[in-house]
Amino acid sequence: MAKEIRTRFAPSPTGDLHVGNIRTALFDWAYARHTGGKLIFRIEDTDRERVTDEYISRAIETMKWLGLQWDEGPEVGGDHGPYLQSQRLPIYTEWAERFIAQGDAYKCYCTPDELEARREKQREQNQAPGYDGACRTLSSETIAAFESEGRKPAIRMRMPEGETRFTDLIRGEVTFEHRFVPDFVLMRGDGSPLYTLAVAVDDVLMKVTHILRGEDLLSSTPRQIRVYQAMGIAPEDFPAFAHLPFVMGEDNAKLSKRNGEVSIAWYREEGFLPEAICNYLALLGWSPGDDRENITMAELVDLFTVERVNSSPARFDMKKLEAINGDKIRALSIEEFLARALPFLLKENVITGTESELALVRRALPIIQERIARMKDVVPMLKFFFVDQVQIESESKAKIAEEPAMHVLQRTLLALEPLQEWTHAAIEAALRAVLIDEMGLKPRLAFGPVRIAVTGSHISPPLFESMELLGKESSIARIRAVVSSAQ
Ligand code: GLU
Ligand code: ZN
Repeated sequence: MAKEIRTRFAPSPTGDLHVGNIRTALFDWAYARHTGGKLIFRIEDTDRERVTDEYISRAIETMKWLGLQWDEGPEVGGDHGPYLQSQRLPIYTEWAERFIAQGDAYKCYCTPDELEARREKQREQNQAPGYDGACRTLSSETIAAFESEGRKPAIRMRMPEGETRFTDLIRGEVTFEHRFVPDFVLMRGDGSPLYTLAVAVDDVLMKVTHILRGEDLLSSTPRQIRVYQAMGIAPEDFPAFAHLPFVMGEDNAKLSKRNGEVSIAWYREEGFLPEAICNYLALLGWSPGDDRENITMAELVDLFTVERVNSSPARFDMKKLEAINGDKIRALSIEEFLARALPFLLKENVITGTESELALVRRALPIIQERIARMKDVVPMLKFFFVDQVQIESESKAKIAEEPAMHVLQRTLLALEPLQEWTHAAIEAALRAVLIDEMGLKPRLAFGPVRIAVTGSHISPPLFESMELLGKESSIARIRAVVSSAQ
């Protein structure tokens, strides 16, 4: 029977998850789902000064919101837990001590000052920087002397001479010469484990078979492989590595806070739908095999293979993400659209949530669905429906003061007042007859002032539909208010 595929997403939440993290999580998720395997969600929180409980719960919440459900990890448990590294500290200590006993690791008594002084020397002599192996072969007298001084030793892994070679599923064969991989610290003098020890021990103990992660971690791979060896794992049982290409910002620099790497929480507040974020991030470094850009989560699962991941960097493109978000918004049923719009409308106090408000929102949503790229836009689009008095935006104020705006509004009142049937078609026909046919105005000059009077802005959902929904009384009252305030 083929071995079960087990991938993992292992963030160190020192802040909210961002685009880079989520792209990694998505690919691990898609690979696990595509192969019928398992996704492990592990929190790498050994640095409890930077990784807080708050960030951990937000990371969990973000994964849920995106629909990236995991098979083992926080909240769901599993046979290989705990899944928070801070709860696994004795395991790391035990392995580090075993490595010392086996001769794979040794105690290093060097102080930070001593290490720095030697690094300085290396720099002066143009040597490759890194630990020089000073404590590899200390005599028992020296050790005793250091111990009596009260020095707390770190534990260092011994890197043998030679090289580490492995086949990355995306980058092909990768070789690291060990002269560039100095003996590295597994555990600090205070007994806290380093990333390399914890990550490698956990990947082995959690039976991870495939590690898909960002390319920034490529250089840590030879050290992780060294830990697998020390754990007695046979090379054919090492997890396979697939290092995902960097995500570049729109300025072609590596994505960072400066050029777009904002947290997923921000995208959520702006009203990007989780399925749009996943769809867009799937295309960052991966391709479905043709040039389609709108894919569902099911299609992603169906088509996801590591072979289709590109090894060259991907470029983050906000316009494309917005276009995809717009597509996903248009694909929603009105009930789904309503459910997603409500939190924005309630939060911004556009509505309080009464039955009659909901009924009006439900009727108004179809006329704005084609027009918004972010869910947040429902607020400016729908706000005017729910105010007693329209506040005219400052930009629009000047427009309505121009000729022939007042004249247009007076004629509009005369045309609308006798109207029996209050439908968008009837409203449009009545206004076209006077403003365009009789007065000979261009549509912008004709309908612009009406739009501003009714909605408060020169940008709004379709005017006649809006007036129909608003009702005759309210529409006329709004126009009248502008006319009389000018008199
Ligand atoms: N915890 C590491 C980080 O957030 C990633 C671990 C890994 O994927 O190997 O950078
Ligand atoms: Zn040392």
